[in-house]
Amino acid sequence: MPILSPAYTGRFAPSPSGPLHFGSLIAALGSYLQAKSQQGRWLVRMEDIDSPRMVKGADSDILRTLEKFGLGWDAEVLYQSQRLERYQQIFDHLQRQNLLYGCDCNRKRVSELGGIYDNHCATLNKQSGTLAWRLRSCGVKAEFSDLVFGHQTVPAALANEDYIIKRRDGLFAYQLVVVVDDIEQAVTEVIRGVDLLEMTPRQQALCNLLGARPPAYGHLPLAVTEPGFKLSKQNHATAVSEWPVTEALYQALRFLGQQPPPELYRLTVDELLSWAITHWQLAKVPPQLEINSTEFQ
Ligand code: GLU
Ligand code: ZN
Repeated sequence: MPILSPAYTGRFAPSPSGPLHFGSLIAALGSYLQAKSQQGRWLVRMEDIDSPRMVKGADSDILRTLEKFGLGWDAEVLYQSQRLERYQQIFDHLQRQNLLYGCDCNRKRVSELGGIYDNHCATLNKQSGTLAWRLRSCGVKAEFSDLVFGHQTVPAALANEDYIIKRRDGLFAYQLVVVVDDIEQAVTEVIRGVDLLEMTPRQQALCNLLGARPPAYGHLPLAVTEPGFKLSKQNHATAVSEWPVTEALYQALRFLGQQPPPELYRLTVDELLSWAITHWQLAKVPPQLEINSTEFQ
């Protein structure tokens, strides 16, 4: 058993809205190998905050699948649904600093704006009615350096959007809880799907606002069935637990640009993973937004 280096902590943060499919295996495996190749810790966090979207039993199904693939985690699994009090404390802290404001603009108005909010309610001091709570973004830097994609600039309107951290239905938003948990789990590097790349500057900024040093970020290509269609429950991606284990791992390594030799097919899961840890190079991951996954199935 290697000694874990406390210097590195990575994580995989699935939303338990269905079983793991090939696309989520990519994020799990990429973050795992990046951690293990540096003797780091690898954590699993259940992002089960959006209760209407959660599917009963999906969390244990995901954990069983990770175990089947040999991806063992190094600390107790954190469930966001059990941390509401903590999120409320952070919310109160931000509110005391006048960093939040209430907004009752409807979805239609925001979609007419092209999906990015125009900070309309920022000075209106709304207190009554059913409000969503937005964080004042004040000058978030729109640039960052991605470990896979290199120097990135996100649209200024997006970087400066006052985004929702508590929804009208009272649920805390992903944007808040992901940052709180990355800080409190002492995550040093986030490796995840490229669909979240544009959220990175705001997450780094919130991290700074909460007095913590942001982790480094690296994004992985998305598995799509055709351009623009990422694998998901909605397009009936098959559960990866139904694939032969070594074959799925082998294909995931290829997807991540790692050139596994064909003999790996004959190895056990542990042997295959140990090859993968030794040979893992983040620099080989193609900086591509999408890769057609049908050739890997
Ligand atoms: N829970 C998010 C998802 O499943 C991932 C969040 C993250 O990695 O920052 O898409
Ligand atoms: Zn508003």
